Amino acid sequence: MKLSSRAKNVSPSLTLAITAKAKKMKDSGIDVVSFGSGEPDFDTPDHIKLAAIKSIQQGFTKYTAESGTDELKKAICDKFQKDNDLIYSPSQIVVSCGAKHSLYNIIQAVCEKGDEVIIPSPYWLSYPEMVNLAEAKPVFIETDDSSGFRILASDLRKAITKNTKILIINSPSNPTGSIYAKEELMEIGNIAASKGILIISDEIYEKIIFDGNSHVSIATLGEDIFKNTIVVNGVSKSFAMTGWRIGYLASSNNELVTAIKNIQSHSTSNPTSISQMATLEALNNSDTAIVDNMRNEFEKRRDYIVGRINKIKGLSCLKPEGAFYVFCRIHKKGLSSMEVTDRLLDESKVAVVPGKVFGSDSHIRLSFATSMENIKKGIDRIEEWFNKNG
Ligand code: PLP
Repeated sequence: MKLSSRAKNVSPSLTLAITAKAKKMKDSGIDVVSFGSGEPDFDTPDHIKLAAIKSIQQGFTKYTAESGTDELKKAICDKFQKDNDLIYSPSQIVVSCGAKHSLYNIIQAVCEKGDEVIIPSPYWLSYPEMVNLAEAKPVFIETDDSSGFRILASDLRKAITKNTKILIINSPSNPTGSIYAKEELMEIGNIAASKGILIISDEIYEKIIFDGNSHVSIATLGEDIFKNTIVVNGVSKSFAMTGWRIGYLASSNNELVTAIKNIQSHSTSNPTSISQMATLEALNNSDTAIVDNMRNEFEKRRDYIVGRINKIKGLSCLKPEGAFYVFCRIHKKGLSSMEVTDRLLDESKVAVVPGKVFGSDSHIRLSFATSMENIKKGIDRIEEWFNKNG
């Protein structure tokens, strides 16, 4: 059997491969410290779990409308209004099996061969693969530590061509933790809107923002930007619900929303009924202390990890403003992120993610979604390794 070129061209997830290798080592009794995780290390809050149990007991276990239940879409509209000052109607919402699925659906609905999608680099590793799967072309705008990993308006103008269909903005960012200021978003948004380019605003880390700052959605920054933006969010990161697989999108472009619903109706149908009930509970009845406690804990860990990394010879990082990752620059020339990752795991029993998978071979990503005890132990080992090899 011959596989499609589409299937052959998808890169396997290196993150999963590293996680699997680290797990295998752990299972065989080796004391591995992992900084690989892309999910909060907190448990899903009990009231959310109970809502799911209740939904099973009450027989809410059948298909729902493809785009999600009316109650959930209404709760998502309320969330957008309360948290983001954005007004949508339930018909403008599509609930999917994770924000990843929402993003995949959008790109499938909008892109085809010859289209270009602008992606600021370093990027979340699934964006380019989704673009490739739609036979479109990812166009990267390079950023680095010196620009705080944010694109400039002038970079965006240069990257736009007549084929540009989409610009992806991810603030707070995975892997860099950077956040765009309101003025920067406004400038970028106005350029995209003036050219009729769809902005995908991936806001999955909106609740994990430090230093007392709060999230600004690009969609709030003017009528034209609002019309040209599709907002993607979900409960994975804000309510520690990665395994429940619920994400959602909102757009005032009804033609686009209908196309996305149609695509979803022929792939997954609806997202899981039980998870929808759990999400309804998360959005409607969560004490703000739940998210605040999680964020405060992440902030303590961030401060510790950043302080330690910047004392290590041959490694440095910016202070992430959001999300739960530090993106560390490797200073030694010729020492690639892949080599550092492989050798840290083999020689020091520490799992990190190579920056190469996010578009920068001179960085490694460390997730601080792990206990302070693990962080201390793991950073000691990284320090020792760089003292010898950095
Ligand atoms: N967007 C970014 C930037 C992410 O880092 C992730 C998950 O790691 C997602 C989207 C997908 O989240 P979900 O679990 O809702 O599919």
